[in-house]
Amino acid sequence: MNLWCELAWLGGDEPARGVLLTIDGDTFSAVAADSDPPPDAERLAGLTIPGLANAHSHAFQRELRGRTHGGTGSFWTWREQMYELAETITPDGYLPLARATFNEMALAGITVVGEFHYLHRGGNAMAEAVIEAAAQVGIRLTLLDTCYLRGGLESFRDADASAWAARVDELRESSMLRIGAAIHSVRAVDAVSARVVANWANARQAPLHAHVSEQPAENEACLEENSATPTETLAAAGALTKRFTAVHATHLTDADVALLGGARVCLCPTTERDLADGIGPARRLREAGAALCMGSDSQAFIDPFEEARAIELDERLATGVRGNHTPAQLLEAATAGGYESLGWPGGGRLAPGAPADLVNVSLDTITLAGTRPQDAIAATVFAAGPRDVNRVMVAGRWLRTEGTDS
Ligand SMILES: [Zn+2]
Repeated sequence: MNLWCELAWLGGDEPARGVLLTIDGDTFSAVAADSDPPPDAERLAGLTIPGLANAHSHAFQRELRGRTHGGTGSFWTWREQMYELAETITPDGYLPLARATFNEMALAGITVVGEFHYLHRGGNAMAEAVIEAAAQVGIRLTLLDTCYLRGGLESFRDADASAWAARVDELRESSMLRIGAAIHSVRAVDAVSARVVANWANARQAPLHAHVSEQPAENEACLEENSATPTETLAAAGALTKRFTAVHATHLTDADVALLGGARVCLCPTTERDLADGIGPARRLREAGAALCMGSDSQAFIDPFEEARAIELDERLATGVRGNHTPAQLLEAATAGGYESLGWPGGGRLAPGAPADLVNVSLDTITLAGTRPQDAIAATVFAAGPRDVNRVMVAGRWLRTEGTDS
């Protein structure tokens, strides 16, 4: 299949023009800029970008939208409301809920999602519901099966880290599904058990994620227990490699920033706002070497464009400085950064050999009309939303065909 894109993002702050994408099965086999459209090519107006990656999701929390957002309190009081909901979800009820959440993501341009999954109820029926939901929607899934050993609800917990590993080993990957690991947090997993999970991920070269320093109280409790910060505790457990993603990384010491420079960081700005978590040092992390990505987390809002620009815009509010991240760096976090965090190396790019996942953004919408071609990347990162997404392709297949363009 040949697609000819008026404008496409191949990296950098400006789009390439006349980009011919050749797709063989589920993979890009050739990408050529400054091409004339061949007669057999399908033409895409507007701007074509790689598929967007949502590196941190709890699909069930979509059900909290509106129920919790107007309340008072803090992260900790919100968590009690989240537990009340989690207690009611069954595998049969989870399939349509997760499918609705993933559908909303697909319509917003998300082509791969990392589901940080801890609704276990002692088995894999809930995980299978999530896997089925993603398959029905047609997006890629990395199921980050989460080790949760203490606190929370009984239904979150495995007996110990070996029982967690035995259960996860029953899950099977496929062309659209990766299985990864997660340590829920240093609150939910002790340092000895964290090492078991890290060893499991390292032995399989699998992605490993953990919530890290979302709240100051988590840091204080960890210092008390381990005489180390959460980041230092996870580093000592062997978790911090380039396959590791620290989710949030909001309240960090300078030493934590340096350690995370060897890993990845997933920012979830719309959730961090909603939960009054704070604003993490994204620029310092990037400059220390951390690869950034982003996630919709609690689904307070599902808009990958807003998530990407909020990395920059929230940091402006916190620092009084503009331009901490370029539009290209933000788009990279929203695409390749997320794919790599989720165990799809080489994905999230319009490049030969990459999975054929893409998003076509209309530039003639009420929001983006008038955009000059050379400004299309900045306009898309700083102003686009799900309403501007025209078409979405995953693995060489169109997910949505209703649009203004074709
Ligand atoms: Zn989370």
